Amino acid sequence: MKEEPMRIGIDIGGTKIAAGLVNQSGQVIRHKKVKTDARNGYPSVRDQIHRLVRDLFSEAGIKADSIERIGIACAGQIDQRTETILFSPNLNWSNVPLKHDIEGATGIETFIENDVNAGTYGEWKFGFHGESSNVVGIFIGTGIGGGLILNRRLFRGSHGVGGELGHITLNPHGYPCKCGNRGCFEAYCGGSYIANRAREQLAQGYRGKLWDVIEGRVDELHAGHVEQAYLSGDDLCTEIWQEVIEYLGVALQSIANLLNPELIIFGGGVVAGTKRLIDEARPVMERRAMQASVAGLKIERARLGNDAALLGAAFMMDE
Ligand SMILES: [Zn+2]
Repeated sequence: MKEEPMRIGIDIGGTKIAAGLVNQSGQVIRHKKVKTDARNGYPSVRDQIHRLVRDLFSEAGIKADSIERIGIACAGQIDQRTETILFSPNLNWSNVPLKHDIEGATGIETFIENDVNAGTYGEWKFGFHGESSNVVGIFIGTGIGGGLILNRRLFRGSHGVGGELGHITLNPHGYPCKCGNRGCFEAYCGGSYIANRAREQLAQGYRGKLWDVIEGRVDELHAGHVEQAYLSGDDLCTEIWQEVIEYLGVALQSIANLLNPELIIFGGGVVAGTKRLIDEARPVMERRAMQASVAGLKIERARLGNDAALLGAAFMMDE
């Protein structure tokens, strides 16, 4: 009997590389994970990926020719014409020919995609079964990434770097952002920026209920703690968190008015680690948006967790 053709999805993160053997219906049959050896540069990570691919199919007892495709999700800018990774800040890569190298090493057709695009696509196709034609993915972790599906296709812009929702300006005089601009959505609502605002006040002697929430472990403070302290009435965190809610609502309002999506999918560590953020931002959006722009708009949490990007990458080249 002929084996069902399988795919392999890879998600290269700054700290770990996750790989999965995936069947045609988008189920991850087998997972593997290694720590990213980013310090030794591109060749070392490339070899790690090659080993992961080989181990996945040999441990599953299937032959290489049963793998029809490999999809790789990676942070950074990717030239879709040449599928070269132009720039990946968390890996310190520029102009690396990963597609070419993995195809050469494995003999399997390989595809590279930006991780947030892949995550949005994976969530849409498998988490939400392709429902809705116009979908926005917003991933809030340390920073904010965005992905757009317009008319059932991933929208990349004219040079493949569109959909940078995290860097739309919400306040021209606002907090400085790592991208060099001021007042970006990310600078207001990105996890590391939120935690830093709380940490600065702790460094200046603030305690309040926040101190009890983190049990004095300032280094481990994250956005979820700030929400937790806000929910228990901490003064500083109430101030910080109300700003986060307001700016998230403002960002949603702009996105809704611009794109009139049917579905907004929220993922990332800050979304997973908070209880009411999305529910509290929604009314802010609704108050400000044009009514028709948000009529019937669904706002949902991501459903696939860590598998979204690797699943998306494994299937995107079909489009
Ligand atoms: Zn920015």
